[in-house]
Amino acid sequence: MSDTTISLPIPRMPGVRGRLQDNPVLGHKRVLLAAPRGYCAGVDRAVVAVEKALELYGAPVYVRKQIVHNVHVVSELERQGAIFVDEVDEVPPGAHVVFSAHGVSPAVVNAAADRGLLAIDATCPLVTKVHREAVRFARDDFEILLIGHAGHEEVEGTAGEAPEHVTLVNGPDDVDSIVVKDPEKVVWLSQTTLSVDETMETVRRLRERFPHLQDPPSDDICYATQNRQVAIKKVAEQADLVIVVGSANSSNSVRLVEVALEYGASAAYRVDYASEIKQEWLDGVASVGVTSGASVPEVLVQEVLDDLAGAGYRDVQQVKTAEEDLMFSLPKELRKDITGKQDARALGGRVH
Ligand code: SF4
Repeated sequence: MSDTTISLPIPRMPGVRGRLQDNPVLGHKRVLLAAPRGYCAGVDRAVVAVEKALELYGAPVYVRKQIVHNVHVVSELERQGAIFVDEVDEVPPGAHVVFSAHGVSPAVVNAAADRGLLAIDATCPLVTKVHREAVRFARDDFEILLIGHAGHEEVEGTAGEAPEHVTLVNGPDDVDSIVVKDPEKVVWLSQTTLSVDETMETVRRLRERFPHLQDPPSDDICYATQNRQVAIKKVAEQADLVIVVGSANSSNSVRLVEVALEYGASAAYRVDYASEIKQEWLDGVASVGVTSGASVPEVLVQEVLDDLAGAGYRDVQQVKTAEEDLMFSLPKELRKDITGKQDARALGGRVH
């Protein structure tokens, strides 16, 4: 893993947006831009899956839940003809429905089949990996302590693989109230988008209570979540203010705000759009850290950089802590329907 700081060119058209004032501060105004940031391979694949389904089958294409947790992405896809629903019973029989990147329980898959829907499963392969672990440990009669946030779609999907074997652990403070049948046969799994540090603290406390606690075969918190947290830690050490681009229901975006505050940023805020940045956040601020959650298109970060440039933060330095080049192939249902000339997107989604 490399750890470098490089200077980037001045953002395009600095000051043109002109919403924020260029007020004087002590010190040199600069932006520390975290890398990696933004789209992960699973989000990219899911978004391209909806676009490709619209192209192949025509509008409307139904999507169960938000395909990824970002308001901008969802509204763009709606504009192209996607219809987002909460449950499959809102989809007309025979229509195409895409399952979101966060995954679904077998009950949802069965409900879609019973209704005669043509399902396209855009569950991130790294979420599917956790589903498989849940199935395997349940088959071996383990009690699964699933660390995650109650009500999150990913947690509902994973728990739904083996509901009678899964107990949800919301965080370290939940540990004391956990009851298990056989303390010798417990394993922990987790949601993919949690804070690494907080999850390790939860595991430490679980192990104090259950010394025979088994670990998952590999990390459940995914590479993208981990990489974005490592990068923002490095940025936060040097930033007076951190701005995280991401939506309120995006778990990994919200975690980035928390991690930035833990690692030294004096203030950290999440915004969906640059227009939400408040002038007073910049009072006395020389160094602004910027990052984005795994479901955020880069255009939204660029708008933040443009507005900051207008406020005098034209020196953009990238703080890079990892390279990412992972790509996932499109869902098999789409690959099957893409015939004729080879389509690069069927083999791998875009990577930003
Ligand atoms: S954040 Fe991780 S688990 Fe979620 S879609 Fe991206 S790569 Fe997959």
